[in-house]
Amino acid sequence: MNAAATPIRTLPQLMDAGLVDAGSATALAAVLERYAVSLTAEVVGAIGANRDGPIARQYIPSPNELVSAPGEQADPIGDEAHSPVKGVVHRYPDRVLLMPTQVCAVYCRFCFRREHVGPAHGGLSETELDAALDYVRRNPNIWEVILTGGDPLMLSARRLGAIITALDEIPHVAAFRIHSRIPVTAPERIDDALLAVLANTHKPVNLAVHCNHADELTSHANAALRRLRKAGVMLFGQTVLLKGVNDRAETLEDLFRAMLAAGVKPYYLHQLDRAPGTSHFEVPLARGREIVKALRGKLSGLAQPTYILDIPGGAGKVPVGPEYLRDGESMVEDPRGFVHRL
Ligand code: SF4
Repeated sequence: MNAAATPIRTLPQLMDAGLVDAGSATALAAVLERYAVSLTAEVVGAIGANRDGPIARQYIPSPNELVSAPGEQADPIGDEAHSPVKGVVHRYPDRVLLMPTQVCAVYCRFCFRREHVGPAHGGLSETELDAALDYVRRNPNIWEVILTGGDPLMLSARRLGAIITALDEIPHVAAFRIHSRIPVTAPERIDDALLAVLANTHKPVNLAVHCNHADELTSHANAALRRLRKAGVMLFGQTVLLKGVNDRAETLEDLFRAMLAAGVKPYYLHQLDRAPGTSHFEVPLARGREIVKALRGKLSGLAQPTYILDIPGGAGKVPVGPEYLRDGESMVEDPRGFVHRL
């Protein structure tokens, strides 16, 4: 693999870096026409020479993205149906998503918002952002605001700070959360200016760090997570179950141990949302439940996330097992598979 300028965003750059072959150029041109691509220096380093490995698979575009499968939807979890104003999704009574930007440092090939993220989709203008914050102010039942997108940590510290200060001043907002891939894909962005913003709030800042493989937790990522912890940010992990990336119990065990060791509590293991062109990443639910079951008893409870499905169309998230109660709750299975009477 050649040394390459990063971020890598174009087909010639992907080829120059030795990440894709000229033979797949025509099919990939069609993929890049439709979906954004970006690989940061951190990600290219984590891929190393293994361009078919679990890190590469998450970020390098594939001709498989042009394959349509039944059930795929441009908006798989129904964000649009629950959006009262631009940039806000209000699906549950007590919390909203606020999406100030649609830009990310990387573009994950399985992203459930892949039809809506990328430089072409930009973000909220100042007027739109004011309207979104106003919506939160006017709805006293909103208890938590979840900053997502896109990746909110792509905003400048000044702009993110302005949003967080505005939320901090709304009395009925008790908590806010940021969903981000930045600590593992562009850890250098966790700098003093950003940390000052996150450390200077009255309300606790929760950061859900998206990470799918232990090899993404590089020394730089670990150092960034340490800086966040020192700034008082509470760290939670979210992981997507992905074929060819982390669909083995041993792989997830390594990941969840590495997360907890980095101070990140594994929170959700997501079943893949069926966005267009992502079926090559799908792990059947039955297989996912087997994997999760294999982790029970083996791994500290603190390192166990909830296996979760976002119901297609926007009906909400539910845990999808596995279950341990048997026979109308009169019997229970233990972590080794033995059944006991209650
Ligand atoms: S960082 Fe998040 S929003 Fe951005 S492409 Fe990846 S999964 Fe999608």
